[in-house]
Amino acid sequence: MLLSDPVAYELPLTTRFRGVTSRSGMLLHGAAGWGEWSPFPEYTRPEIDAWWRAAVEAAEVGWPAPVRSRVPVNSIVPAVDAERAGAFARAGGCRTAKVKVAERGQTLADDLARVEAVRDAVGPAGRVRIDANGAWGVDEAVRALRELSRFDLEYAEQPCGSVEELAELRRALARAGVDVPVAADESIRRSGDPERVAALGAADVAVLKVQPLGGVRRCLELAERLGLPVVVSSALETSVGIAAGVALAAALPELPYACGLNTVALLAADVTDEPLLAVDGAIEVRRVTPTGDDWRATDALAQWWCRRLSAVEEGAK
Ligand SMILES: [Mg+2]
Repeated sequence: MLLSDPVAYELPLTTRFRGVTSRSGMLLHGAAGWGEWSPFPEYTRPEIDAWWRAAVEAAEVGWPAPVRSRVPVNSIVPAVDAERAGAFARAGGCRTAKVKVAERGQTLADDLARVEAVRDAVGPAGRVRIDANGAWGVDEAVRALRELSRFDLEYAEQPCGSVEELAELRRALARAGVDVPVAADESIRRSGDPERVAALGAADVAVLKVQPLGGVRRCLELAERLGLPVVVSSALETSVGIAAGVALAAALPELPYACGLNTVALLAADVTDEPLLAVDGAIEVRRVTPTGDDWRATDALAQWWCRRLSAVEEGAK
């Protein structure tokens, strides 16, 4: 049972993301602690119902016991020019960097320059992964990855859009002798059938996000069924939501890769004065309690969130 009514928050972002300059959602408090419900504004039912199940699990049930006390995380390098990329790569003391590639309006030469700068910044012992957000076709991806592979990529995240294309790409890369593993992100959380990725042999790595997939326990079950190494990523939440991702990463039996959970750095403020941010490349495993109230949303925005939540609760009856 919830101990209080959910409260809406709104926080500014440091840079424009998904076309918006702020992030909003709801925080709820129950017997187990605080949970976050923050499906992106354009998402609708039934998709946002899974996000609500994750928030209720966090607040009312809590999470399985952790098997580690710190979770290694990656830095995020946006599609900036090569000169600026190195500083992003080393943020938070991270030894793994995720580089955005295939940005609209840019060329493969831009990607090569950025990835090269990041490889220089993290050094030979550091790890470099890229994320194309599904922007490449299969042939384009083979071409790009053949070039980019000289920087020793840990993996390529969602190089193509569909599950079928990812499967085809993996076969094409093997034929071409290009040794870059493929990670599935959007193909798992938005395809409606996360297990097709494993059934079609479409990925070497699975990116899991707690809210879209309906909670920590559901993610743990899915990870077991997929039989793939897992990278836990955020949905750009406050520290309250990040705590759920950290709990998942902390409960996985194996965690061979750094997780994409250092995203509170993309918010210009947080709901707590003890944010879950990377120190020396890792985030500590703990729960988060909101402090202060300057994160509270305006009445109009709070009412919009209440109406959205009513629709979810109505649908659950
Ligand atoms: Mg991604």
